[in-house]
Amino acid sequence: MRKKTQLIHGGIFGDKETGAVSTPIYQVSTYQQEAPGQHSGYEYSRTGNPTRHALEELIKDIEGGTRGFAFGSGMAAITSTMMLLNSGDHVIFTDDVYGGTYRIMTNVMNRLGISSTFVDTSDLSQIEGALQDNTKAIFIETPTNPLLKVTDLEAVSNYAKEHDLLMIVDNTFTTPYFQNPIKHGADIVLHSATKYLGGHSDVVAGLVVVNDDQLGEDLHYIQNSSGAILGPHDSWLLMRGIKTLGIRMEEHEVNTQAVIEFLKDHPIVEKIYYPGLEDHSGYDIAKKQCSGFGAMLSFDVGSEEKANELLSKVRYFTLAESLGAVESLISVPAKMTHASIPRERRLELGITDGLIRVSVGIEDKEDLIADLKHALG
Ligand SMILES: *Cc1c(COP(=O)(O)O)cnc(C)c1O
Repeated sequence: MRKKTQLIHGGIFGDKETGAVSTPIYQVSTYQQEAPGQHSGYEYSRTGNPTRHALEELIKDIEGGTRGFAFGSGMAAITSTMMLLNSGDHVIFTDDVYGGTYRIMTNVMNRLGISSTFVDTSDLSQIEGALQDNTKAIFIETPTNPLLKVTDLEAVSNYAKEHDLLMIVDNTFTTPYFQNPIKHGADIVLHSATKYLGGHSDVVAGLVVVNDDQLGEDLHYIQNSSGAILGPHDSWLLMRGIKTLGIRMEEHEVNTQAVIEFLKDHPIVEKIYYPGLEDHSGYDIAKKQCSGFGAMLSFDVGSEEKANELLSKVRYFTLAESLGAVESLISVPAKMTHASIPRERRLELGITDGLIRVSVGIEDKEDLIADLKHALG
C-alpha cells in the first residue's frame, strides 16, 4: 500500500457490523460479559476501546511498528514511555527537545530517580560523551525546535544497538508521512498528535508505536495501569485528521517553499533555518532519511523591535504556540516557547530575540506571501 492509501485504508477500515465506512465512536466505559471473565475482547475502556483500538492499529501501520497506543496528550505519551524505565536509569536527550519533555525529565522524572543528559544529538561524539554505565535510552527529536537541527537516525540507531540502549524518537515535526524512524532503527516512535496528525487545532492527543512485542506488552501494561488514555471521541477526530495527512503535508510543503523563496530575497531577513535549504547543516541527512522537509521554519529579523513590528502587522499568521494545523501560526521562541531558558543560554543556542518561528499552513500561498510582504515592509 502506498502512503496516502494507507492513511485511509490502514488499520481497521470502517465497521464490519454495519458497513459504515467511518469507525463508529464507541462512547462506552464497560462491556457485557457472557459469563464471568468471558468477553468479546473488551472489558473496560481504560484497558481497551474499539474506537481507540482502530486508531492504535492505524498509527501502528503508518509508522511500520508492531503495536500502537493512543494517549490523552503528547506529554502523556512521553511520560508513559518513560515509565518503561526504572529508578536509577539514565537517558540521553536531544538538547533542544520540546520544552514539556525537558520539564518532566528535569522536574518530575529526576525525583523518581530517572536522570537525563541533554546534548546536541546531531553530533554523535556528544552522545558518546554523555554515555554512562546506567544509560538505558536515547531520546531524539529531529528536526528540532526552533533551529531545525537534524539528527542522523541510522547513525544513532547503530550506536544504540551497540550499547544496548532503547532508541526513542519524537516524530511530531516531520510526521509519519515524511519520516518513519522505525525504518531507520528506532525502537519507539511517538507523536504529539495534537499537531499535524490531528491537523485542525481541535484535539489534544499523543500516539506511540513500538517495534517489539515485549515492549508492546510492557507499554500496554503501563497504559492500562496509569490510565492516560485517549477518549473515543478524540480518537475518532484523530482518525478523521489522519485521512488527509498526505494531501495536507504536500500542500504545507509547497507553501513553505514559496514562503522561503520570498524570505530569501528580503533584505530584513538575516538568516533562515529550514532543513530543505542546501546550506542548512542537516540538509544531507534530512534528504537521506525523510521524503519531505516539512513545513516548520525559523528566520531571524535581527532584533526584538523588528520581530514585534512584523507580528503586529500579520493577518493570516496567527500569533500562537503550537504548530502543524491548517492555519499558519507564528511565534517568537525567545518570548514564548523558550522564555524559560536564560537569555545568555538562548543566545548561545542561536535563539535570538529577533528569531521568528513559523508553522506554514495550507491557505493560498499568494495570500501568505502578500501578508508577509506587507508585515515586513
Ligand atoms: C507539542 C509537542 C509535544 C507535547 O505534546 P502535547 O500534545 O502538547 O502534550 C511533544 N513533542 C513535540 C515535538 C511537540 O511539538
